[in-house]
Amino acid sequence: MKYKRILLKLSGEALMGTRQYGIDPVRLAEYANDIKEIADLGIQVAIVIGGGNIFRGVAGASNGMDRVQGDHMGMLATVINGLALQSALENADVQTRLQTAIHIEEVAEPFIRRKAMRHLEKGRVVIFGGGTGNPYFTTDSAAVLRAIEIEADVILKGTRVDGIYTADPEKDSSAIKFDHISFDDVLRKGLKVMDTTAFTLSQENELPIIVFDMNKRGNLLKVVSGENIGTKVNL
Ligand code: UDP
Repeated sequence: MKYKRILLKLSGEALMGTRQYGIDPVRLAEYANDIKEIADLGIQVAIVIGGGNIFRGVAGASNGMDRVQGDHMGMLATVINGLALQSALENADVQTRLQTAIHIEEVAEPFIRRKAMRHLEKGRVVIFGGGTGNPYFTTDSAAVLRAIEIEADVILKGTRVDGIYTADPEKDSSAIKFDHISFDDVLRKGLKVMDTTAFTLSQENELPIIVFDMNKRGNLLKVVSGENIGTKVNL
């Protein structure tokens, strides 16, 4: 296996599957099985999950809600998704721990870096909920931050497209996919991989990002085996 410890970022929207809202149990079970496959091979897996399938702070703010209040709702949405993913992983016989950036101690452990690393060493999948715990951030930023903190080898951004293209492949059929691209080129070409805060944090800490299609079964295993699917961003 190419990577020993990975941080997988899943968006909240990915959990919707074919639905318009909420969580699709079939999609969740598929993800759980893919994660089990790599965890069983001894890969240490940490996961940051988004909340966009339930609530986004910006959407609340555009409807007149206080932004910080909306972001708190968004962070709680990520905890709901984390609980759902934990349940699906447990159904697949994977040991997990959910740690949250905001304290909800009856429901999940608080985020404690050393504890998270210990869980990973013991082979438990660690899910980080609650984003960074701060408004005005995204779960992409949380993913990069946690990946750096736990000394992950790479951040795997599981999406519904199979990598980074010269243009949005869902809108432009002439778009061409990159196998590799540098952080500088992503910025120079104005490509969208993550929000700027998250992306810069990754670049400054030399943490490679792989964008790949998480909706194709077996792709996660291919990525951690070092197969050249998706797009790798590094120095
Ligand atoms: N959020 C936040 N701080 C964070 C992470 C998330 O305030 O550190 C809130 C924010 O309102 C965001 C929502 O949680 O819109 C859901 O997260 P995100 O949009 O990143 O989820 P995704 O797009 O990955 O589903």
